[in-house]
Amino acid sequence: MNILLIWIQGSGKGTQARKIAADYGYSFFEMGQKLRNFSELDHPRSSEVKSHMEQGRLVPDDLIVAMLEHYRDTHRDEKVLFDGIPRSSSQKALFDAVFPDYFVVFLDLKREQAIDRLAGRKIDPTTGESFPAHFEGTFSPFTGERLISRPDDTPQAVAKRIEIFYENTLPLLALWAQENKHRVYTVDASKDIETVYEQIKVVLSAY
Ligand code: AMP
Repeated sequence: MNILLIWIQGSGKGTQARKIAADYGYSFFEMGQKLRNFSELDHPRSSEVKSHMEQGRLVPDDLIVAMLEHYRDTHRDEKVLFDGIPRSSSQKALFDAVFPDYFVVFLDLKREQAIDRLAGRKIDPTTGESFPAHFEGTFSPFTGERLISRPDDTPQAVAKRIEIFYENTLPLLALWAQENKHRVYTVDASKDIETVYEQIKVVLSAY
């Protein structure tokens, strides 16, 4: 069964997602990274995507659904770990139509802690993996790539992403609870990476 990771920015989900995908054989669909790659293409809508991302706004749903459908059609028979989708109730409806079978892991983190974790982080431009401000290296130990600051980690864009999380994404938990079709598991993401991963492993052991 597919897994959806729901989180606030900075909850360390990208790190957890990579561990789950590697240890449990999931394909990894990372919406933000797919959009970052798309924004660099020579495509008529790339600059539109780039501009939305720079401001921390949601990219229009028609592009999101086209990417989901393409992924479904090219990854049949694979179990997929989704990160960064859905982020609104309209996206949830689109997502449910394309990938109906999944359970949700909600990585719960307080707003202040999320902002702290975002401050000064660096990312690997090829994989999108993020490294906290206290990471001292200049290069990713995994790919050897030089780490960069994310262009959309400006205070304004971060504030916008956090606002969207509370206004559009968090209410999805109530929708899932009402529908009672998809299980939602809450994990305390304030702990260190290994402790959080242990909690996630307990959830996954049920599948
Ligand atoms: P992330 O890497 O998950 O922080 O996403 C970076 C940016 O990509 C967001 O601030 C949005 O501009 C865009 N984005 C990511 N996921 C979505 C989504 N599900 N729908 C629309 N835009 C998205």
